[in-house]
Amino acid sequence: MQTYYTSKPLDAHLTAITSLSGVRCFLVQGSERALLLDTCGGAGDLAAFVAGLTDKPLTVWVTHGHVDHAGGAAWFGEVHLNEADAALARESMTLAARQAYARETLPDLALPAEAFCPAESCALAGLDDGDTIDLGGLHAQAVAFPGHTRGSMTVLLPELGTVLFGDACNQHLYLFGPCATTVEEYRAQANFYRKNYSNLYSRALVSHGPHETVDPVILNNCITLCEQILAGLDDRLPMQELGQPVLYAKRETHTGVRADGGFGNIVYGADKLPAGE
Ligand SMILES: [Zn+2]
Repeated sequence: MQTYYTSKPLDAHLTAITSLSGVRCFLVQGSERALLLDTCGGAGDLAAFVAGLTDKPLTVWVTHGHVDHAGGAAWFGEVHLNEADAALARESMTLAARQAYARETLPDLALPAEAFCPAESCALAGLDDGDTIDLGGLHAQAVAFPGHTRGSMTVLLPELGTVLFGDACNQHLYLFGPCATTVEEYRAQANFYRKNYSNLYSRALVSHGPHETVDPVILNNCITLCEQILAGLDDRLPMQELGQPVLYAKRETHTGVRADGGFGNIVYGADKLPAGE
């Protein structure tokens, strides 16, 4: 039988769950409640898998509307996400979008029909900046970080000194397509985030890449890269990503690390530069 997810405890409260496609979601457990952060791409019954990890009442928060985060929401009766990403999430939750994502990321695997929840959607409740949930002995706080998408939310776990960035800030930050902000807007949001929240965490969780956690310095690095992009001092390397023309702020080696040895890259659309560039 196909195994769709693997789990890895990160500490007594936090478990990373990785899908077959390699995208991660995270389960946080307090003494009273559990909180699932993101839902992966939808292949495999995530609700059943999570039920095997906790018997506490479960709330689900989705960081943003992309299919690899919201696609699995259909397995749950209700998920919370920011209103600005609700339309995007509704698109991502359709069976066609989930199946297309699975074909793209798992081309060699013929998944059976029962790998996908037949429901086309689920109830979407709001998730606003500052929303907090008490899980019993620990809390989770949603903090808006628009950029990667306009409705992107991060999650602070203050008692664990941890932040979940989702895709809002990571080592291969996507700022392209209609849902992303400009580089200038992203820089402003990232500066605001650093000023107000960076003293609250020493561990940063990300949804993609080889490791569950990254050095929180990634936020500083993304801000520095924004400065370089806006000054026209980045490599500005034309590439294709997800079938779209993009610019890599920094050249990468064939293994996907920065050729200059730096940590963190921004992959952006030419339309995200200030007008006239
Ligand atoms: Zn995303």
